Amino acid sequence: MTVKSETISNKEIARAFKLAAALLELHDDNPFKARSLQNAAFKVERLTTPLSEMQEEEIARLDGIGKGIQGKIKEYLDHSSFEELDILLEKTPPGVVQMLAIKGIGPKKVKVLWNELGLESPGELLYACNENRLVELKGFGTKTQDLIIKSIEYSRSNEGKFLYANIEIIAQQLEKDFKQSGLISEISFTGALRRRCEILEELEFVLSIPDLKSFLKFLEDHPLIDDGSVKSAGNRIESMVAGKLPLHIYRADDNNFYSTLFLTTAGEDHLQILKEKYALTDIGSAKSEEEIYTSLKLPFIEPELREGIFEFELAAKGAMPVLLELKDLKGILHNHSTYSDGEHSLEVMAKYCKELGYEYLGICDHSKSAFYANGLQPERIIMQHAEIEKLNASLAPFKIFKGIESDILIDGSLDYPPDILKTFDFIVASVHSSLRMDKEKATKRLITAIENPFTTILGHPTGRLLLAREGYPIDHKKVIDACAANGVILELNANPYRLDIDWRHIQYAISKNVMLSINPDAHRKEGYHDMYYGVCTARKGALTKNMTFNALSRDEVSEFFLKRSALRNK
Ligand SMILES: [Zn+2]
Ligand SMILES: [Zn+2]
Repeated sequence: MTVKSETISNKEIARAFKLAAALLELHDDNPFKARSLQNAAFKVERLTTPLSEMQEEEIARLDGIGKGIQGKIKEYLDHSSFEELDILLEKTPPGVVQMLAIKGIGPKKVKVLWNELGLESPGELLYACNENRLVELKGFGTKTQDLIIKSIEYSRSNEGKFLYANIEIIAQQLEKDFKQSGLISEISFTGALRRRCEILEELEFVLSIPDLKSFLKFLEDHPLIDDGSVKSAGNRIESMVAGKLPLHIYRADDNNFYSTLFLTTAGEDHLQILKEKYALTDIGSAKSEEEIYTSLKLPFIEPELREGIFEFELAAKGAMPVLLELKDLKGILHNHSTYSDGEHSLEVMAKYCKELGYEYLGICDHSKSAFYANGLQPERIIMQHAEIEKLNASLAPFKIFKGIESDILIDGSLDYPPDILKTFDFIVASVHSSLRMDKEKATKRLITAIENPFTTILGHPTGRLLLAREGYPIDHKKVIDACAANGVILELNANPYRLDIDWRHIQYAISKNVMLSINPDAHRKEGYHDMYYGVCTARKGALTKNMTFNALSRDEVSEFFLKRSALRNK
């Protein structure tokens, strides 16, 4: 569970500056002002302390942030906007502002589309593209037009979709309130939410409700539920949360609660297979889901696995694997500190990790190519290692492993020469730049990095950002085969926006004996809690404790790293 700060983040302020700069350009306003806002956004993004926690004098002392920008920062911190931005937004149709967010076109092109074709929303723009109207426009062409179509369609296909992490928080709040209402006798999440799918389109509950009328009244009055949205028909209650998230409640009674839960949890394919191959028919008054599976001569299948993809193959082997749990994890690898783009110092990161009861921490700041993230130049690596040794002496037996998140360069090589690479205990190799590659190039780039004897873990293998950016296409089997051949661990990046590698590939990795590491990629200490989402998604792939690298103890991990470097030095 990510801890959300109540205050305004630097990212948000930077975003506002960027928007204002784009709007100035759109309106052909002072180009110098636009540039100064852009520079400010760049600087603010790179600050390691939240502006909201800084004194005015401290902000005034910041390098390269002038009086004008300081004033805007203060305005933004006070009321989440600044006057200049408000004025610009006022004279721009909201649909045109949305067009500025389309990938592949900047403010200059949006201006042409608006002024010359009269397009005022992404919808109108898509229509114009489909009519081929952009091709003849100066500065455009078929390529740009295709890019725009792709970009709009991608964001369209994501409408009405939500990240698991954002929905679970709402679901837990509702669950708590439903229980406290005293109007229900049984309750459970169901559907894709209970299966812990990474992307959700609705909130689903099964409730046993003795007094429907009172419950409907309670629901109508609930602050999270939209006014007038509650509808009840048969055993279904439907309503809406915050104007966009549908809430479905399946009403059961104490007799059919478990059969309803079972039927609404199952993914379509899971249910289909049960009907066709296991003769699922009447389960009316089962007392538990275990009873239902037993009656079908199947072992109990965990809700996360009920997708109809591989759970029946696992069941055919007899006992189901015991799925990974958060409490199985003994350490936290792949994290950032203020040495690169993290928010908290190495010491704070280490102490918090220890405080949470973990045995070890792997610190992996960015490597030197990542200039945008303050990547480490060699002299700062030496400083960091000295600090790690000092902390290790005082925090023992807790241990910080010296790691680095090394950029995988365009040709697949790592970002430092061997002399430097060998000073680390372990190396997470990740792609952060030149993300536009075809499948063949991307696969080759990753395999070259995997074959590098210094690579320990392959970081966020596809670079995807859920609902925002498709990952680069890779041949998962080839990449996993290369990990197997080179003893490289596969990261399951636990950030709820990434959850990369996708859980659908975990079984193949296990079949090749490739271990996975649940890494939060924390950029602040609270980021450690994202490991929970990594575990949720790992469970969907039926990952077990013994195939999870960071379920190993401190000594086992230590030994693993030592063995790998010995192998390399042979
Ligand atoms: Zn990364
Ligand atoms: Zn990282």
